[in-house]
Amino acid sequence: MAFDYDLFVIGGGSGGVRAARVSAATGASVALAEESRLGGTCVIRGCVPKKLMVFASEYHGAIGEAQAYGWAHEGGAFDWQKFKPRLREELTRLEGIYRRLLEGSGVEIFDTRARLVDPHTVELADGDRKSAKHILIATGGHAVRPDQPNAELGITSNDIFLMDELPKSILIVGGGYIACEFACILNGLGVEVTQHYRGAQILRGFDDEARGLVAEAMRAGGVDLHLGTNIVEMRAAEEVTDLDHAKPATEITGGAGELAPTDPDAGAALRGGPVWVKSTNGQERVYDRVMFATGRAPNTADLGLGEVGVATGRRGEIVVDAFSQTNVPSIYAIGDVTNRIQLTPVAIREGMAFAATVFDGKPTKVDHDLVASAVFTQPELGTVGLTEEAARDIEPIEVYCTSFRPMRTAFIERPDRVLFKLIVSQKTRKVLGCHIVAEGAGELIQMVGIAIKMGATKEDFDRTVAVHPTISEELVTMREPVRTA
Ligand code: NDP
Repeated sequence: MAFDYDLFVIGGGSGGVRAARVSAATGASVALAEESRLGGTCVIRGCVPKKLMVFASEYHGAIGEAQAYGWAHEGGAFDWQKFKPRLREELTRLEGIYRRLLEGSGVEIFDTRARLVDPHTVELADGDRKSAKHILIATGGHAVRPDQPNAELGITSNDIFLMDELPKSILIVGGGYIACEFACILNGLGVEVTQHYRGAQILRGFDDEARGLVAEAMRAGGVDLHLGTNIVEMRAAEEVTDLDHAKPATEITGGAGELAPTDPDAGAALRGGPVWVKSTNGQERVYDRVMFATGRAPNTADLGLGEVGVATGRRGEIVVDAFSQTNVPSIYAIGDVTNRIQLTPVAIREGMAFAATVFDGKPTKVDHDLVASAVFTQPELGTVGLTEEAARDIEPIEVYCTSFRPMRTAFIERPDRVLFKLIVSQKTRKVLGCHIVAEGAGELIQMVGIAIKMGATKEDFDRTVAVHPTISEELVTMREPVRTA
């Protein structure tokens, strides 16, 4: 049977674009549909704008540090109005690069929504149908708000990048990557940040000592972090007349404008405004904004999955095998929509493995083991491999750990601490995990990740000569375990 294309990709984020390009490079005829902006979550409303905001927010501390080192510069306030247009321009530039890369690879782009009709056919929003030998779903995920009354009053991380003005105060709900990163970013930009996390310590799943140090540093940096705390009730501030116990509403700072018309969260952003919140810790107050960073869910709604019989899991994710193939043989899925590891580089790997498997005759499974990642808090947390808590349940381990005041900030009498931690197998001597809390931990963990992926032992680390004076030299100079377990 003749198809319109060899491959039709639904979703133009990092994973979908890479899969389309690499597949096209094998000679396959490829089309891709994207309903919003090319680049997806990472480029348009995730990693890239977030990291640029991290950079912007870090100058806050840098000015004070420079002064302590003898510089005469005076700091000023952060100007969102200067930053925002540059951010938008940069995202537009990157989006253009994605488009040109696709076009240059011979991929036909449809700037519209697509849904499955049968195992080899998709329907575009205008009703046009396209057939393909293979269909790849790479539709990503979206931020979810908790199921509680008035949750729609809260914004999500999408909306932060679109706001006309930065809020004066914000309550961030959640304790994961996004909540902690934005708490630090907005705090650095001069927003008064309160964070509520329902559990005992933020960053569940990360190494306990590392989480503790990040939380301590966030508090020391000015984030008003409340653990074991959640929202009991929230209402639009203008509806609450009895504000006797609540802090007066701060000036209304305007809604988020300039929304991409197809942004699914556009309506919510426009509604965002001051919110009165009653919390489980007894506090009642008004925040300029409430932001929910309470997790993300796969974009599987109205994709036609049910009609075509593509199996989904408990959270709506598309169920795939190690080759990213669904139970319908012609349909594959990669990236956040499969809810394996929600990280851009993982989605890209899955896209490349898909192309190798289906179009290059090289069946390739994605190796999801020992994926390093970083939380861009201030200080950053870089992590690869097992935490102490997970490793000790598996086998006997040695723990090497040091926490100290780094030279650069100790010199100017700042209390900052860093942490370097290695988890080592007693039996094989392999380093099973590494956890770093420090400025630049994201960069450092990438390097350590290579060694650990290669199977480095503690003795390999030991025979590596230190680079002095650096903070990371501690990785190769920790001689005695602090404990065994
Ligand atoms: P996470 O799953 O990491 O965190 C969600 C947080 O919300 C958790 O603290 C969770 O608490 C809390 N939560 C969930 N439901 C509720 C509720 N009903 N009420 C109150 N709190 C709630 O999701 P994120 O949205 O932060 O990030 C999604 C994914 O995106 C991450 O897992 C990561 O893979 C990726 N990401 C990666 C980044 C990076 O690499 N630097 C940056 C940003 C995102 P609990 O712990 O109790 O479940």
